[in-house]
Amino acid sequence: QVRTRFAPSPTGYLHLGGARTALFSWAYARRFGGTFVLRIEDTDVERSTPEAVQAIIEGMQWLGLEHDEGPFYQMKRMDRYREVIAQMLEQGTAYYCYCTPEEVEAMRERQRAAGEKPRYDGTWRPEPGKTLPAIPEGRKPVVRFKNPQDGEVSWNDVVKGPITISNRELDDLVIARPDGTPTYNFCVVVDDWDMKITHVIRGDDHVNNTPRQINILKALGGTLPEYGHVPMILGADGEKLSKRHGAVSVMDYPAQGYLPEAMLNYLARLGWSHGDDEIFSMQQFCAWFDLDHLTKAPAQFNPEKLNWLNNHYIKLADNARLAGLVRPLLEAQGAVFEGAPDLAAVIALLKDRANTVNEIAAAALMFYRQPAPDAALVAQHITEAIKPALADFAQRVATVEWTKEAIAPMIKEVLAAHGIKMPQLAMPLRLIVAGQLQTPAIDAVLQLFGREAVQARLSGYL
Ligand code: GLU
Repeated sequence: QVRTRFAPSPTGYLHLGGARTALFSWAYARRFGGTFVLRIEDTDVERSTPEAVQAIIEGMQWLGLEHDEGPFYQMKRMDRYREVIAQMLEQGTAYYCYCTPEEVEAMRERQRAAGEKPRYDGTWRPEPGKTLPAIPEGRKPVVRFKNPQDGEVSWNDVVKGPITISNRELDDLVIARPDGTPTYNFCVVVDDWDMKITHVIRGDDHVNNTPRQINILKALGGTLPEYGHVPMILGADGEKLSKRHGAVSVMDYPAQGYLPEAMLNYLARLGWSHGDDEIFSMQQFCAWFDLDHLTKAPAQFNPEKLNWLNNHYIKLADNARLAGLVRPLLEAQGAVFEGAPDLAAVIALLKDRANTVNEIAAAALMFYRQPAPDAALVAQHITEAIKPALADFAQRVATVEWTKEAIAPMIKEVLAAHGIKMPQLAMPLRLIVAGQLQTPAIDAVLQLFGREAVQARLSGYL
């Protein structure tokens, strides 16, 4: 039974790196008919907020990364952590340490001065035949894990390959603070153990925690999960991905007009590959996803590729669905829909060229507001010389069949009758009808505006 988890710390929004590890964990569970657990690691009470929890859950919902169990909150599991700490104290795999932070710091200073690696010196570590110092009165102890002193800890990381760390490198980790609250690495171990996690997929900023976690889990008698540490995501310039590279919060992407299926496809390919396949559905991804094809090298975020995928999925998307996304954007711009062209039809005309939903909205706006062309452009394009052609065009508008197929040859007839070229007629028409020079093909635009609107707008110029 495969059991994976996503274990965000709710100290900010869901960022791209987090979303990607969540996606990998989710897909792995889906592939093997397993269980995907959501665990909120909120023990850092100073930095954790309910808003961040909400933002993470929203981000996962937008992407459709549904969890099967949870969300579990570490803050609600304190009793369980205390219980395990008590067991460890009893079994001798953990011990009380009465050193003050100042004493520990002084210890480290001395070691540094002697050119040694700073580490806890074992003052309070119980050993057979060793007499411990007298317990200082009124002092609250921390609890330390009794890390093995010899041998090594190793695991075969599913991304990075075999990793071995000498136990001598590892301190006796503090697992409970003087007030009894458990520390981060300890909670993770108890949770992964209790939640029977079989595959821990997470960012490689946690790789240093893994040997400590493995030692604690072994002391508890737990079965080791597989660990896979996914390299981080870098910006196109090779620097760690940050605000400078644009949006890093997943929820900035819907706000900028990205579709979740584009983001999922993009993230899936960021650090994982399946031959030359670039475009695939989540169903396909869940059938293919394996841990062997995760790349060891850091992934580079490429906004152009995301745009390319977004354009692909926009082209595939149902126009009514896109209309639901575009409409509020147009409303925010003061668009008027009454008597205006059908939004789904406008979207059908515009979407092939759009990288984002917001680009569609920007291009669609001309259909939903009164044209107010720039005076200089009007003077330049709508000259006295062209007015006879415009008048001729206006007359034909009244009688031509109102389809693109009929409008196009009608325009050609006007051009021929007046000995002018397409732009000489199309530019004025664009300004008059749409209020701007950039529009899709004029016949399609005219058809969408509708006969009455075209007539009404022309009449103001003749
Ligand atoms: N809470 C950690 C984070 O947000 C993840 C810990 C883990 O996956 O083990 O970075």
